[in-house]
Amino acid sequence: MRFLFCFCLLFASVALAADDPWKLDDKFKAAKPEDLKDAESVKPPKGAIILFDGKDFSKWVKKNGKDEVKWTLKDGVMEGVKDHGDIITKDKFGGKFKLHVEFRVPYEPGGKGQGRGNSGVYVQGRYEVQVLDSYGLKSGKNDCGAIYNVAAPSVNACKAPTVWQTYDIEFTSPKFENGKKTEPARMSVSHNGIKIHDNVPIPVDNTTAGLGGDPSTPGPILLQDHGHPVQYRNIWLLPIK
Ligand code: MG
Repeated sequence: MRFLFCFCLLFASVALAADDPWKLDDKFKAAKPEDLKDAESVKPPKGAIILFDGKDFSKWVKKNGKDEVKWTLKDGVMEGVKDHGDIITKDKFGGKFKLHVEFRVPYEPGGKGQGRGNSGVYVQGRYEVQVLDSYGLKSGKNDCGAIYNVAAPSVNACKAPTVWQTYDIEFTSPKFENGKKTEPARMSVSHNGIKIHDNVPIPVDNTTAGLGGDPSTPGPILLQDHGHPVQYRNIWLLPIK
């Protein structure tokens, strides 16, 4: 009887560990110890526009542009809620700017490919920098850090799932003359401080599931709900003159 009780207790605790997507288990093997260390949180510099400081969703709205955001907010961190839908900033941004985003993806050992920790950061609502658990993989055009279906990251700079990571995205809006595009949008991206895109031209006006719209006009920052509890904190944007 006592054996059965212990067994049940053990089983329950294992089941519980597997249920907590923010804890790695002993099956997870990190390639190096730094991969298990949070990327350093970066304070917004002078002149930055604070988009999320952990207090509230005052700068955000649902993708339809009017409904209140109902993602969860706890301990300064927001978390995507399945079937809620994407969220966008109330403000729109054009020209040239730097966007800083901190995120972490859950540990979902049962999933694979696009089914682990999928979300995304869309600049101007149109160009996605993919968020995904791509730890240890050979990164393709749809993996974490990719400009979705446009460019694979030059290196896989992912940290382990559950560990905080950073994106620093330097974005230049496309240029138009008389309604004709003369310069594509461009992006440089650093992932956890490692440059993974260097002034890459983006030949399309919208990546998969983006907001689309007139690419000559400013657009919001969009965070994607792809059905996974991806977390975000400390998001700011610095306009560049
Ligand atoms: Mg995505």
